[in-house]
Amino acid sequence: MYDFVVVGVGPPGARFARRAVENGHDVLALEKGSIGEPLACSGHVSTDIWEFTGAGAREDLLQNEVRGARFHVDGPGSDAYPFYKDEVVSNVIDRVGLDRHLADLARDAGADVRDEHTVTAVRESTDSVEVDASGPDGIETFEAKMVAGCDGPRSRVRDALSLPEPDELLHGVLAFSDEADHEDFVDVHLTAPRFFAWRIPRGDAGVEYGLAAPPGVQVNKHFEELVDGYEVDVSHRCSGAIPIGPPDRVTTRRGFLLGDAAAQTKPFTGGGILYSMTCADHAAREIDPDRPTTLAAYEHAWRDELEREQRLGHLIRRAYSLPEPVQRIGLGALSGEIGVHMDRPTSAFSLEHVQAMVSSLRR
Ligand SMILES: Cc1cc2nc3c(=O)[nH]c(=O)nc-3n(C[C@H](O)[C@H](O)[C@H](O)COP(=O)(O)OP(=O)(O)OC[C@H]3O[C@@H](n4cnc5c(N)ncnc54)[C@H](O)[C@@H]3O)c2cc1C
Repeated sequence: MYDFVVVGVGPPGARFARRAVENGHDVLALEKGSIGEPLACSGHVSTDIWEFTGAGAREDLLQNEVRGARFHVDGPGSDAYPFYKDEVVSNVIDRVGLDRHLADLARDAGADVRDEHTVTAVRESTDSVEVDASGPDGIETFEAKMVAGCDGPRSRVRDALSLPEPDELLHGVLAFSDEADHEDFVDVHLTAPRFFAWRIPRGDAGVEYGLAAPPGVQVNKHFEELVDGYEVDVSHRCSGAIPIGPPDRVTTRRGFLLGDAAAQTKPFTGGGILYSMTCADHAAREIDPDRPTTLAAYEHAWRDELEREQRLGHLIRRAYSLPEPVQRIGLGALSGEIGVHMDRPTSAFSLEHVQAMVSSLRR
């Protein structure tokens, strides 16, 4: 019997597996395909990412450094409202490589990480869980004291444990052109209803164009308009779901959710790599597989960490739906140098940010 079976080896699954093993637990981690594939993520993250990685990661994974974002109310070529710092605020990284690196760290720590194992059923009882997985050797059943559902926005573990779904699933699309671009600004276009489109320079890896929006929006039509506006040819198109708004409960007696399965994402960008790994650390710290009551401590810990950020993130997102003239006035008034941390919107109320706003008003 394992202490934990982890379902899904994305960033939170790999991070939790590694941390739980380091705490002395036996961990089996199952991934349905090849780790990191298929790609459905921009890999645009704050520089905090390197606190979660091991030796050599930055050299291997970094594609570009970013200092700010130009916001546009309209499409390519429209007025730009820049928000920036005089230092690097975020990095564009190789997301497939990140997942493989994090999985290797979990393996090196002693976790039993197996790819090509699709979990097809989870049965929870008072004292344990049973997990069926379909792999190269057919269907296998594994027993553990607890199951960690790290299996993404359409989580099978969440369904099997009868846990509620996130509030909303956005639809995101991405594609790439092959011109090298090392510029240190991303572009954000508020042209997609209730969310946005983007252009991310990825250094020698080309340029990424993307867009996300809620169900009912013609995502592909808006995406074509974006790409046509930039007059580029794109390839390697991919898409994925972005959960927004965590469910009221992400734990049962012998199971818990992490990452996109629990909608541990930023409501105003959809980003979830850093939040999910931060929550994985809380889970590894709080949960004792022999004491199911410790799951309540995990629920409290991750919500304490993210609740205020997510609440403010929802408010920021509302600005994407304001009438265009109001958006122009707001962006015009707020643009310039900022002190906000991209993962912590509450830092907008920090001394650093107020000082940055005051000095930009003086200019
Ligand atoms: C278009 C788009 C762009 C994004 N851009 C960014 C960004 O720039 N920055 C950022 O921080 N976040 C971004 N995100 C969000 C980010 O990708 C997720 O928040 C993050 O990947 C969450 O990790 P996860 O492991 O919870 O989910 P996932 O990355 O979806 O991983 C879940 C894993 O579980 C596996 N799995 C699923 N079902 C099973 C099963 N039955 N059995 C075994 N394994 C299973 C999957 O194969 C997968 O490997 C983006 C998302 C999208 C869709």
